Amino acid sequence: MSKKILIHNGNIYQSDAWLTPGYLSIENGKITAVQEGNPDQETLVLADQVIDAGGMAVLPGLVNGHSHFSQSFMRGLAGGRPLLQWLKELIWPLQSAFSADEMYLASLLGLAENLRGGVTYVVDHHKITHSPQHTEAVKRAAEEIGIRCTIARAWSDRGNKPESGAAILDEMEHWYSLQNPESKVTFASGPLTPWRATGDLMQKTHAQAKKHGSFTHIHVSETLEEVEMTLNETGLRPVTWLDQLGILDEHAQIVHAVWVDDAEIDLLKDRNALVVHCPVSNSVLGSGIAPIGKMLQRGVRLRLGTDGSASNDTQDCLENTKMAICLARAAHQDAANVTNDQALRMSLSDRTISVGADADLMMVNLNTLRSAPVHDFTSALTLCAHSGDVDTVMVAGEILMQNGKLTRIDEEILIKECSSALKILKKRAGIDT
Ligand SMILES: [Zn+2]
Repeated sequence: MSKKILIHNGNIYQSDAWLTPGYLSIENGKITAVQEGNPDQETLVLADQVIDAGGMAVLPGLVNGHSHFSQSFMRGLAGGRPLLQWLKELIWPLQSAFSADEMYLASLLGLAENLRGGVTYVVDHHKITHSPQHTEAVKRAAEEIGIRCTIARAWSDRGNKPESGAAILDEMEHWYSLQNPESKVTFASGPLTPWRATGDLMQKTHAQAKKHGSFTHIHVSETLEEVEMTLNETGLRPVTWLDQLGILDEHAQIVHAVWVDDAEIDLLKDRNALVVHCPVSNSVLGSGIAPIGKMLQRGVRLRLGTDGSASNDTQDCLENTKMAICLARAAHQDAANVTNDQALRMSLSDRTISVGADADLMMVNLNTLRSAPVHDFTSALTLCAHSGDVDTVMVAGEILMQNGKLTRIDEEILIKECSSALKILKKRAGIDT
């Protein structure tokens, strides 16, 4: 029989309000009750496990809409380089040198950091591997950590070391065949960028993804230089080109969209595409500031992503949320451009705590020097708290972190193993930094 969990004495997020205090019940991986106030004695006694959430905010887990787990081994390497120089001099040489075992360790590290920061669902724009064993290693790591994860298998069929389209389609078919409605680890197509993928293969992989209930996840218009590359080649701006190819629809995840014009924002809205905004990464690499205030105003679907740890240089989604607010307001000299509430919704991907929803939750301690005294829970979460304040995380009702301690893995051992593995990897890649 499934364990019945009761969380009480907490402050429970309800999209447009907070229950202070409130309580909720969980059974069979789902939320079965949400109430304002305190539970009666009978409710307390009937629960198999009672969690006191005093001083905590209780919310759906965060969604990290874009990461690259391999970059958990590449923190702090940007060193003042802009995107294309950073990719060519450091990231691509290191990524090509990864063994499957190193990929597994880097993924465990990235996933554990996401979990520790309250993330219950993350999209890994997995590196180009030329080896299904590398993708299998990410899958194994995700299953061990226990959070939900989509592996957007990255690919490129033009430019440096292109892969064959037939091989990509075949491999994707294999990954999709492993999915079922209960899978916590799923797959998507991840063309690197419009300038590293042919229109023909993007159309084919997009159709294949839709057939399997999945999506296309692609970096678009992160820098001005990239926009010019597509303009010179096709005569169209990148979002417009993707639309002409028929890829811009509700199954398209457009990562970055920093340099999009008004017509492209209208297209993103009209086609119901999802934009993944990565404010910290865009700042670290000096790429620019995405016009998310304008996108929100027009009703574009938006989600936040940290991007990989080589351009962030952490997976701290609460810091990322604050950065989304700060950048938008500074860019427009407008303190109301992107409200705290809008930013929190983006970081939760518009999920809320309601009866019948998956019990994918986080509890954030606001009784800290950073956040107390709390005037407003949404402000405290978006402007004061950071990932270290996350106390408890569960996915489908399973507690994966409690009182700040991961329940499935030993962090100390993981850090030691990763540090040793990185030394060997850097030597093999010829990177001396
Ligand atoms: Zn990225």
